[in-house]
Amino acid sequence: EGSTKDQVPIPRYVRVNTILTTTEAVIATLSKRGYTHVSLSDIDWSDKKARWVSRDAHIDDLLLLPPGTDLHNDSLVTCGKIILQDKASCFTAFVLNPPPGSHVIDACAAPGNKTSHLAMLMGNSGTIWALDLDVRRLNTMKTLTQRAKASIIQPMHGNFLELDIHSPQFENVEYILLDPSCSGSGIVNRLDHLVDGPEAGTSEHDKLDRLSSLAEFQIQVIEHALKFPNVRRIAYSTCSIHTQENEDVVATILATHGKEWCLKKALPSWPRRGVSSSGLSQEQAACLVRCDPAHDATNGFFVALFEKIGHEPTNVK
Ligand code: SAM
Repeated sequence: EGSTKDQVPIPRYVRVNTILTTTEAVIATLSKRGYTHVSLSDIDWSDKKARWVSRDAHIDDLLLLPPGTDLHNDSLVTCGKIILQDKASCFTAFVLNPPPGSHVIDACAAPGNKTSHLAMLMGNSGTIWALDLDVRRLNTMKTLTQRAKASIIQPMHGNFLELDIHSPQFENVEYILLDPSCSGSGIVNRLDHLVDGPEAGTSEHDKLDRLSSLAEFQIQVIEHALKFPNVRRIAYSTCSIHTQENEDVVATILATHGKEWCLKKALPSWPRRGVSSSGLSQEQAACLVRCDPAHDATNGFFVALFEKIGHEPTNVK
């Protein structure tokens, strides 16, 4: 196999913020600027000059534009009508799917792309407590979510592992989104090469050490989420391609909590599923979502959806 550069190009993904506009209106604006609305199967990837816009096959209100399209200073972005967000990173909020009016915790929220996605899916009704340990990142989240007019978001500075599970304000929390710090090994940069990131140049031993401390933290985060008195659905994601942070973490949780919690099949129409060689049955692995940067036209990503047995919500994506 060749490098990612020779394989599927990654388009510019744009999530429409339905709090402020509609997908139809964004497509109409782009059409006026010379982008042709095409179906996915009609995209000519070899024509580097073509301007096109297409709807994504899996995520509602997600659009694709040609790879490399720069919209950072575009008025649609600066006024919050569209959000530049990779397709895979839209999966977490999409599969958690909290209905309007829900109480939700986004435990590791900054800079808030998934938080504003949650707010939009909830029709900007209910409450989202959006926590982060890092003040600067939290401030970025405040700016971006205010721009998106996602008014149900309550930013909180703090350590999720110390968040009081018995606080009355969280007693109706049924949905929790967990997107904790990870190795980032699935992120591809603009040249479409895998980023070596913090792992570059370190010894095999140091890499394994780092992965096991990340996994320990990720397990603690899920363990803490499971303790909230009324939680019924938890979405866990990483932008890592390592099983240690993905399937192995899920297997550890199910080994301890498998009587009360099960995996729900997330995004059933997505073909790439979890790896089963890690203490998970094939059936369990098939519930998990993986994205491979070399083949899926996204960053590398992983999603697991846990549900409380006997209290499963019925709204499934
Ligand atoms: N969900 C975010 C988004 O979609 O924009 C990205 C989250 S990033 C992968 C992980 C975040 O977890 C970082 O912003 C980091 O500061 C935060 N974090 C790390 N440890 C934490 C903890 N113990 N409690 C709360 N936040 C934490």
